[in-house]
Amino acid sequence: MAFRRVRDVRRHWRLSAKLLIASSVATVIGFSAICASVMLDMRRGEEELARQTLENLASGIDADISRNIELNDLSLRAVVSNLVMPEISRVSKELRHLILFDHAATAKHFGVIQVFDGEGNLTIDAASLDPRPENRSDEEYFTVHRDHPDAGLFISRPMLHRGAYSIVLSRRITGDNGRFLGVVVGAIRFSYFHELFERLNLAPGDTITVLRRDRTIIMRTPFDLDVIGRRLAEQTNWKAENLKEGTSFAGKGPVDATPRLYVRRIGTSPLYVVVGKPLESIFNLWRTEAIRIGAIMAALVAFVVGTALFLAREIGRRADAEDRLEELATTDALTGLKNRRKFDAEIELEWRRATRQGLPIALLMIDADHFKAYNDTNGHQAGDQVLVGIAICISDSVRRAGDCPARFGGEEFAVLLPGTNAVDALNVAESIRLKVQQWSEGETITTVSVGVASMKPSAGQQWSDLVEAADRALYAAKANGRNQSVVASMPKFSLVA
Ligand code: GH3
Ligand code: MG
Ligand code: MG
Repeated sequence: MAFRRVRDVRRHWRLSAKLLIASSVATVIGFSAICASVMLDMRRGEEELARQTLENLASGIDADISRNIELNDLSLRAVVSNLVMPEISRVSKELRHLILFDHAATAKHFGVIQVFDGEGNLTIDAASLDPRPENRSDEEYFTVHRDHPDAGLFISRPMLHRGAYSIVLSRRITGDNGRFLGVVVGAIRFSYFHELFERLNLAPGDTITVLRRDRTIIMRTPFDLDVIGRRLAEQTNWKAENLKEGTSFAGKGPVDATPRLYVRRIGTSPLYVVVGKPLESIFNLWRTEAIRIGAIMAALVAFVVGTALFLAREIGRRADAEDRLEELATTDALTGLKNRRKFDAEIELEWRRATRQGLPIALLMIDADHFKAYNDTNGHQAGDQVLVGIAICISDSVRRAGDCPARFGGEEFAVLLPGTNAVDALNVAESIRLKVQQWSEGETITTVSVGVASMKPSAGQQWSDLVEAADRALYAAKANGRNQSVVASMPKFSLVA
């Protein structure tokens, strides 16, 4: 019973070590997952905050640009509607000027309104009563209206207009039956955009891009003349074409390789605004925090894993120590065979098993002959060596798993042979006896006598009955002249032969 308890305790230790490692790994994985999830949430939060800020910025710029375009367009519309009045041709130049341009918006950055006839000749100029002749029939803002009566308000690509970089706004003058009578032209100078963007407090790397609906860059800050007028529709590498109205896009933009978060507002004006912020600056704070928390987590993980491994190793050592202790507690120090304690435990176990399964169980009791005399003649040390020799002979003859050779006490040995009948047990006994005899051939011959008993346990019987029977057989062998094996005759037991 004691041995089983030791085994159970040992198994318990090993299980504890495994459980400790498994629970540590589970804890580490769990905490890492929570930490990663929190960090990702924080990242999403930073992105959302940046998106909202950019949306507000885009919204403000969009509103300002739309208002100015609308203001300019209102003036153009007024000129168009007044020009088609029949009376206008009958009044003086001065009066016509007054009628056409009195209400025209003259904001700081607006260009002068001009009227061109159906051939592209300048006919009326808000800045002069007698404008110098010029022809603009090649300009896009003229040809668009000539060829497309429904063009409405046309906004040109950025161009040098009357000595200043501007976008030109134009409307068609349509006569009776849809006849093309020319165009009215206004302009918004780039200085307007420069002033607008300067008012904003942009961080380094932030961009504002104003685009025409056909995705021509009208204006961009930081300002680069090479970029102005570029048509993004012709560029294949700008993935921001995915940037639909009211959405955002994180990645490389059309102009430089810096990855940014680009936001585009929903708007109805002919121009739209895309504002961008470098991802680097959006996630800068987050990254620092992530690295800090990541480092703390890594240290914690290393500590937990290290501690778990250390404790598991200690538990393993403890289990090994238990192993060694059990080995020591069950082994006979001189011969290396099982000791009496272990033998008692084994016979108890095997007896119950044999009872359960209805199998025979055999026992050999082996005793060295005239050993006292041997000791007296050759000394106790030599006697010990003989005992070791006998033990080796026994071990060599008993090889089946489940067999249990043990030192019973003094110069007596016992061999338990589960599932063995008397005949087979006698064979084993003879094999041991002959081996001892052979081995000890020389000046001092050592022999052993063996008592053999085998029985099928039945109800009411104890294992001590088997020991008693084998003992009696051993006495018989001694009485019969020694160096022989005798099988117990057991009239009151069922002898298996
Ligand atoms: P028998 O043939 O009748 O068994 O004679 P015997 O001399 O062997 O019988 P007995 O039981 O009288 O003597 C046993 C002797 O075994 C006594 C003791 O000197 C010796 N002996 C017992 N244990 C040990 C041991 O551990 N080492 C040594 N060297 N001798 C032992
Ligand atoms: Mg004896
Ligand atoms: Mg003896």
